[in-house]
Amino acid sequence: MNGSKQFWQFNLYKAMRDPSLIAYEDELVVIIKDKYPKSEEHFLVLPQATIPEIRSLNASHLPLLRHMDRVSRSFCANFNHVFWAGFHAKPTMMQLHLHLISDDFRGSGLKTAKHWNSYTTSFFVSISRVIHDLETNGRVLLPSNASLNELLRAPLQCHKCLFKPSNMATLKVHLISHTPTD
Ligand code: AMP
Ligand code: ZN
Repeated sequence: MNGSKQFWQFNLYKAMRDPSLIAYEDELVVIIKDKYPKSEEHFLVLPQATIPEIRSLNASHLPLLRHMDRVSRSFCANFNHVFWAGFHAKPTMMQLHLHLISDDFRGSGLKTAKHWNSYTTSFFVSISRVIHDLETNGRVLLPSNASLNELLRAPLQCHKCLFKPSNMATLKVHLISHTPTD
């Protein structure tokens, strides 16, 4: 693509303005459902202001990030799930988006090892890490592109136990064993 952005990479700008997709909105942020959920519950928190991605953040964004953190915590409290809240170090879609994802990873959109590793390795940068980095360094400290690509190619590892599945089908069956039964 010679560095140019493909048209689909801008789809979140449109999605966050579609009232039928909005689960929460205030003057600073919008929360929408992820269109290709990787877990039973998967949402994206987007700032109303245009901010391309995690690398665009500096200390001036701290009040916004703290607001995103606060709003996310109260939003997730409505669900009977444990949530992870973080950003992909190298996002595919433009406009900053915080993933709120329940920790079951049993969504229809979770298909590839790359998907798995993007949430379960340090490719996934928690919002508390982002706030900490902005407070102490004025920017988010991220691994090099080469290291990020390596993280995505890492062997599969269950996020809850020591099991190392040989492929995604085995992982998906294994994840059922971690689903609470009540
Ligand atoms: P990232 O890899 O962090 O850029 O994640 C982008 C996220 O946006 C993925 O979880 C996609 O499933 C999700 N997504 C892509 N297109 C849409 C859309 N039109 N509406 C809502 N979510 C989307
Ligand atoms: Zn396990």
